[in-house]
Amino acid sequence: MKEKNTFLKAEIDFDSPNRNIVPLTTSVDSSGKLTISGCSIEELIAQYGSPLYLMDELTLRNSCRAYKKALDKFYPGKSLPIYASKANSSIFMSNLISSEGFGLDAVSEGELLTALKGGVDKSKIVFHGNNKSDSEIEFAVTNKIKVIVDNEYDLERMINLSESLKSNLKIMIRFTPGIECHTHEYIRTGSFDSKFGFGLENLNYVFKQINKAKYLDLVGLHAHIGSQIFELEPHNDLAEILVNKAIEAKSFGHKITELNVGGGLGIKYTNEDDPPSIEEWVKTISQSIIKVCDKNNFELPILMCEPGRSIVSTAGVTIYKIGSIKEIPGLKTYISVDGGMSDNPRPITYQSNYSACLVNDPFNLKSSNKYTIAGKHCESGDVLFKSIELGLFKTGDLLCVFGTGAYNNSMSSNYNRIPRPAALILSDGNAELIQKRETSEDLLKLDVLPDRFLKHY
Ligand code: PLP
Repeated sequence: MKEKNTFLKAEIDFDSPNRNIVPLTTSVDSSGKLTISGCSIEELIAQYGSPLYLMDELTLRNSCRAYKKALDKFYPGKSLPIYASKANSSIFMSNLISSEGFGLDAVSEGELLTALKGGVDKSKIVFHGNNKSDSEIEFAVTNKIKVIVDNEYDLERMINLSESLKSNLKIMIRFTPGIECHTHEYIRTGSFDSKFGFGLENLNYVFKQINKAKYLDLVGLHAHIGSQIFELEPHNDLAEILVNKAIEAKSFGHKITELNVGGGLGIKYTNEDDPPSIEEWVKTISQSIIKVCDKNNFELPILMCEPGRSIVSTAGVTIYKIGSIKEIPGLKTYISVDGGMSDNPRPITYQSNYSACLVNDPFNLKSSNKYTIAGKHCESGDVLFKSIELGLFKTGDLLCVFGTGAYNNSMSSNYNRIPRPAALILSDGNAELIQKRETSEDLLKLDVLPDRFLKHY
């Protein structure tokens, strides 16, 4: 029989979870059904309902440790890995990454609050954003969280705030390094045409402006080139540009002690994806920084990096229940599941590809037909898989989609007033709730009907 779903049989790379499609604890039980972390998926669905986000604790911790290990090896004693919480923000995630010694990158007051509630050390949080509100900036400054100044508007407000407080504020500045890399244009941020950061050509002017500010202390530079990147070269170049800019800043009287290279390392969503390992990524960046620093006799700065997807994506899966099945003879068969673009907007937004299997036939032994997996939303483009081979199934069977830990829950919506799924953390045969399922009633909580409309009831 032809081997199917080979990704389930592939050897698991424990050192670099981003190079696996499935969580590290994925297995098949004696009755041939898919399990994660020793938990029966069918039992979890019976207890918590469908769709359901599942996260594997071992995979999450392994990803964090792979970054720490590589940083300790290639950049010993001077690094701070920072989790990009936009990938998956929750009190649970904040708590987990902080227990692994990570800092956190937030881009809104909501993400900042979540980080603080999860116990992240304030001194390890950085606050990003290309259009921060005044109250968000004040919230960060009041909580002694470092602001990454993205543009002139940010700079002006930080100068004013530091003067009104008459106390020194440490800042980093973000710039666009002008690096092109091969990823979707929406998740490419480092080329010159980007809404994020100061233009490279304006940096000297910015250095001078900061010089004039009595209470601002420029301690670091930041740049991020995009997401789901498989090439190492752009990261090598980025590290080099960052050091060169830090050297230039020195000539303006600034002492740059922190360089933040952003995130961006890709993960393996399908068999075709071949991302570098976490170790290779860290090695490339570290060696590039060390080389340019040595050459210029520049003191090694603290190396910060902001991985998001490569920490959390492979640890997460989404389980859906199969509902209606529509065959269009000679064309295709649609299978509809009970979620879709509201819990995973990536396929409709970025044309992203995933891997999936049936929970009760993970190796896809029983058939070779191809199907289109559609979501339940009122949108023709709400399709999770255009064409995927699946074994025999019937309405009510479960489908497991891999690699959904990043940019699914955090990008989810209530389109069509669909409540968000619950989320569980799985560890050693136990499942614990980390996000309650939303209810339809929850969705009405913020609706207001002004009194004068009541008469229409
Ligand atoms: N840092 C910044 C500034 C970002 O904008 C992003 C994502 O877009 C990240 C880090 C995380 O990137 P990734 O999830 O690809 O690691």
